[in-house]
Amino acid sequence: MAYPLVAIVGRPNVGKSTIFNRVVGDRISIVEDTPGVTRDRIYARGEWLGREFRLIDTGGIDIDDQPFMKQITEQAEIAIDEADVIIFMVSALEGLTDADERVAKILYKADKPVILAVNKVDNVEKRAEIFDFYALGFGEPFPISGAHGIGLGDMLDEVIKSFPEDTGDDDEDKIKFSFIGRPNVGKSSLVNALLGEERVIVSPIEGTTRDAIDTKFTDEDGDEFVMIDTAGIRKRGKVYENTEKYSVMRAMRAIDDSNVILMVLDAETGIRDQDKHVAGYAHEAGRAIILVVNKWDTLEKDNHTMQEFEEHIRNEFKYLDYAPIVFVSAKTHQRLDKLPALIKAVNENHKKRISSSTLNEVLLDAIATTPTPTVHGKRLRIYYGTQVAIQPPTFVIFVNDPEMMHFSYQRFLENQIRNAFDFTGTPVHLIIRERK
Ligand code: GDP
Ligand code: GDP
Repeated sequence: MAYPLVAIVGRPNVGKSTIFNRVVGDRISIVEDTPGVTRDRIYARGEWLGREFRLIDTGGIDIDDQPFMKQITEQAEIAIDEADVIIFMVSALEGLTDADERVAKILYKADKPVILAVNKVDNVEKRAEIFDFYALGFGEPFPISGAHGIGLGDMLDEVIKSFPEDTGDDDEDKIKFSFIGRPNVGKSSLVNALLGEERVIVSPIEGTTRDAIDTKFTDEDGDEFVMIDTAGIRKRGKVYENTEKYSVMRAMRAIDDSNVILMVLDAETGIRDQDKHVAGYAHEAGRAIILVVNKWDTLEKDNHTMQEFEEHIRNEFKYLDYAPIVFVSAKTHQRLDKLPALIKAVNENHKKRISSSTLNEVLLDAIATTPTPTVHGKRLRIYYGTQVAIQPPTFVIFVNDPEMMHFSYQRFLENQIRNAFDFTGTPVHLIIRERK
């Protein structure tokens, strides 16, 4: 599931975000696109020739109050730290600049493939100008034009060729999860507290997944977990680690690598926009989700506190009504012992399979209690349903006319399915198709 990560670096104005948008939204199909993220698209999934990958635009990660050269240095370092393949972008229109050379100098240190792309080669005459860029020392430059969509295919072919060999990791039956949340909600404290629980046995990570920070452990039942790292956990003291965009990017990356997301909220400071942004991505990505309210020790509580907090969360995260909420404290370890079992339960639900016969009994009952809608005297007919995928559970429902499936009736069917089977913690996708 860990798709290779491609980073675009280069000084401002060479056309990084133009290329990012083209690669993600145009030339190749969009695998995932989230409304909240389009505002500042720095991270997205894409595919080229059937190979899926993730793309980051390091130019979108601005480091507050840093001078220009420091900014581009930091961005190049992010690319080196995060990416499997780096696209180093320069511009034929402005030619070779000091800033390009500065970026090149940082990238020499990269132990990763670097592909040099010369953008703004809008026509054949301009092609002659790419030769200056051989001086950067990254081999043959790829002429491209973001404005005209020229050359991107050849560049992407090279990107794909440079992907690391698939090591076919054996983590498939392990439960992959991560703590996600904005800085200071207590992710590292939760990780340490969870790993410090007596019933948890941490094993040194074998193999060489790129993130050596991932931690494997076994619970008292012998079930194996892999905890995927996020920004808040590594704390290596780099300047960029504290920027919001970087932490969002790291969170999205960890979400892509995990099956179960523990979305950490802070009882003390409450819910912020960044929490919603990241939770929205996890939801759209179809991951299983648990809402973990940390720092529960900091509140003066009475009989209603938990219920009120829960209502507040449900109100703020309406689309996450399937996610269980757990109130914990990394400080006092309150309820931390509940987490492994809860993670396992939602993980099971996330990969649950329902037989077609059972599913169709539920659909028939649903139609019997609440008849399908009619439009202009014509009635929506539901013929049958079948599960086509897991993680998340995805059902295709065959009908006479998909246009007639109202949102509210679809919601009703989803609820009936949820009432019949335990899908706590996982999104459930319904696809409405016309029966041929
Ligand atoms: P970034 O700062 O590197 O992300 O650069 P942008 O993508 O914001 O692009 C900077 C400017 O270059 C914008 O005005 C773009 O319209 C322009 N631009 C991007 N690609 C091309 C191209 O292929 N040809 C030309 N002529 N202009 C381009
Ligand atoms: P991260 O940035 O999300 O990894 O957050 P940290 O784990 O570094 O925690 C941020 C701050 O919150 C630290 O000062 C922690 O000691 C504190 N903290 C974390 N969990 C709790 C908790 O459950 N209760 C209290 N009172 N403080 C906590």
